[in-house]
This record gives sequence, structure tokens and C-alpha cells, in this order.
Amino acid sequence: MATYDHCIIGAGIIGVSIAFRLTQAGRSVLLVDRKGIAEETSRGNAGALAFADVEPLASGGTLMKAPKWLFDPLGPLSMPIGYAPQMVPWMLRFAYASLPGPHAASTRAQVALMALARSETEALLGDAGIGHMVRRDGALYLYEGAAALKAAHPLWKERQRHGVSFEAVHGERLAELQPGLGASYTHGMYVTDWWTVSDPHDYARALADAALAGGARFEIGNVAGIAPGPRSVALTLDDGRSLEAGQVIVAGGAWSHRLTALLGDRIPLETERGYNTTLPPGAFDLRRQLVLPADGYVITPLATGIRVGGAVELAGLDRPPNYRRSEAMLRKSEKVLPGIKTGGGTQWMGFRPSLPDTLPVIGRSPGNPNVLYAFGHGHLGLTQSAATARLVADLALGREPAIDLRPYRPERF
Ligand SMILES: Cc1cc2nc3c(=O)[nH]c(=O)nc-3n(C[C@H](O)[C@H](O)[C@H](O)COP(=O)(O)OP(=O)(O)OC[C@H]3O[C@@H](n4cnc5c(N)ncnc54)[C@H](O)[C@@H]3O)c2cc1C
Repeated sequence: MATYDHCIIGAGIIGVSIAFRLTQAGRSVLLVDRKGIAEETSRGNAGALAFADVEPLASGGTLMKAPKWLFDPLGPLSMPIGYAPQMVPWMLRFAYASLPGPHAASTRAQVALMALARSETEALLGDAGIGHMVRRDGALYLYEGAAALKAAHPLWKERQRHGVSFEAVHGERLAELQPGLGASYTHGMYVTDWWTVSDPHDYARALADAALAGGARFEIGNVAGIAPGPRSVALTLDDGRSLEAGQVIVAGGAWSHRLTALLGDRIPLETERGYNTTLPPGAFDLRRQLVLPADGYVITPLATGIRVGGAVELAGLDRPPNYRRSEAMLRKSEKVLPGIKTGGGTQWMGFRPSLPDTLPVIGRSPGNPNVLYAFGHGHLGLTQSAATARLVADLALGREPAIDLRPYRPERF
């Protein structure tokens, strides 16, 4: 039986970032995933390092808009009626997290994590030698008319309060930031401190390569059992193999609660499914990521094409995808960018791992000090991956965590 200092379950962007940091610290690391490196949610996301995105989704504003959104089955938020009963406990917690007091606490925690994300991403890009995979040209939020922008002022004021810088743009300046916009998109907010990766799958694989080059090992395997002992943790795979490590880190994305349940830790993790279409390179001369807040999707220039998508579907882990949602956002993009060539695209669905208070779980399993948790980053897993890796490495190596970890502790629910 092989023995490692750390075994990380899940090779999404969270798992590979942790593997890289622990390997750099000289530890022996095994990364295990049932599918491969970044073959799930970290594969096809929108590629944004959205450090400015500090306001928690659980908010009074979301609660106000949700009923209207739910009336449009292909709109920004949908939920099959058959899945609604299963969502009720999560939604009640979401509603609680949206109250002014809890919302303010989540905002403080998100601001702290984002500040760390910014500095740790910079450090990780340098240490892994992958800085060339990131473009730093900001994001352009688009609004149909001055009134729509004005309605968004509370959000921008809140961001300003937290140090986010942005520029209100229209007319020539807007056209310079993105030529060829549809006539109704007359106003924008240009956020400079917002980066995008060349392609999220390529980025995660490059980071995994850096970890493997540093000595980490990778195995394909589906973890079915976790048995913590006094000095190590034994894992069993569904093909009968066994693994052992001094410490196990659960980074299983939207499936993590199935692993924590094996240890008696019941964590209210749900998935917010998201959809997109990736068009071939050259589908449009896109200058930077465009954000369409009214419709809940983004249009991203990647090295591998133009990716159009987003939205939220509350439908759990097991229902088949409804790619009409990808199609609906692609059709909407024709109004934003009338010259876009929408043929030849590839559709995709991914499972955002989401906790009701919009914060991830980063911390030790309450009854099992040799098991660490790192999952539940919702819409922001790529953005917060380097910060999470830093914090998990702090815990794993017995260092003082870079920020106060209490808001992210697993037992907060
Ligand atoms: C449409 C869409 C757009 C998005 N855009 C952005 C964006 O622009 N910026 C951003 O920051 N975030 C974005 N996100 C969110 C981001 O993609 C996720 O938060 C992030 O990918 C989660 O990473 P992860 O490593 O936790 O999970 P995953 O990437 O899902 O990885 C978890 C891994 O664990 C493995 N696993 C699970 N259980 C087991 C087991 N029992 N045994 C072995 N392996 C197991 C799975 O196979 C999987 O590979 C987006 C998400 C979607 C859906």
C-alpha cells in the first residue's frame, strides 16, 4: 500500500492548486480523481479571475429578482418543479444568509478571501510559470440604457466601498472597449481588476503538470470509503484498491458532501448547474470578457474560442442536461454582438458547488483532524483557487492561516 503525506480527492482547479502548493513545500502528494485532471466543472467554466466579484449571491437583491427569473424556464435562474422539494432546506438557508446581518458577514468574508485570491494568484502564476496563460484586460458590464445602469448603482456603490475600481462608459469610449456592440447596449461599467485565463481546462492542466513535475502523483480512481485512523487516513476505491495518507483533503467539487457524509459531516452543498457554448476562434473580434448582468451570462474570449454562457439551474447532480439553455444564451448574444458567427459551437454543462451563504468550506472535518475540506466555491472556484490552496497549505503544514478561517468552517451550518 502506498503512503503519502497528503492525498487530495478531486483534481479540479481546487485540488490541483492545493497539490501544487503542497508539492512546492516538499510534501509527498497523491491526487486522485475518478475522471482525470479538470474533467468536470473546472473544465468548461467562463475563465474569469473575477476579484471584483465580492458581493455574495445570497442577498436581498437576489431574493427580489428570483421569482421573476423563475417564470422564464430558459432565463437566468430555473428549477424543474420536481426538484423544488429537495431545494427547500438549501433555499431557506439561502434566505437566512440574505438577511442584512448574515449578508454583511458573508460580504466581509468574501472581501477578505478575494484580497488573498488576488495576491496568491499573482504568486502562483509566477511560481508555476503560467503567467502567460492569463490576460489582464478587465471585464465590461453591459446595460441597455441609462436607466438599467442607474438601477445597478447600489451594486457598484457597494463594490466601490470595498475598493473595487471601475469606470462608467458610454458612446465612443464604450465602442473603443468593444467595437460592434448591438445598438441597445448603450452603457457599460469597465472593471479593470478582472483577469481571464486563456482556457480553464488548459490552465488547470498546466498547473497539474507543474505539480507533477515537482513530484506529485496522479491516479484515476473513484473514492468510495474514508477511514481516519490515529496517524493516517485510509481510502478505498470502488475497484477495491486502497490508498493511505497522513492527511486527506476533500476537494471533490459539487460531489464533496457525498464524501463528507462518510465521516458523519452533513454539509448543505447543492449544485447550481451552468451552461455554455464555445464557438470556434474568430467567431467575433472580442476584446475582453463581456458581462450581461440582466441575463446572467458572460461572453469570454479564450485562446480556444469564444465562450457564451452562464445562468443557474437548480436541478441537482443526476438529471440530464437541458442544452436548450445553452442555445437560449447563444441567441441572446446575437443581440449583443450582431456580427457574431454562432455556428460550429460545442455545448457544455457544469456543476457549480454551492453553499447557501455563498462562501466555500475551508477547514478541518470537526471530528477528524487529519481530514481537511476545500470545496463549495460556487461561481468563483477558479478565482479563489490560489487563495484556497494557500489556506489549505497553511492548515496542512501547521502554519497560522493567512486570513481568519472561521467564516468558512465546515460546522457553521
Ligand atoms: C457555466 C459556469 C461558469 C463558471 N465561470 C467561472 C468563472 O468565470 N470564474 C470562476 O472563478 N468560477 C467559475 N465557475 C465556477 C467554477 O467552475 C467552480 O467553482 C470550480 O470549477 C470548482 O472547482 P472544484 O475543483 O471544486 O470542482 P470540480 O472542477 O468539479 O472538481 C471536482 C473533482 O472531484 C472529482 N470527484 C468528486 N468525487 C470524487 C470521488 N468520490 N472520487 C474521486 N474523484 C471525485 C470529480 O471527478 C471532479 O473532477 C463557473 C462554473 C460554471 C458551471
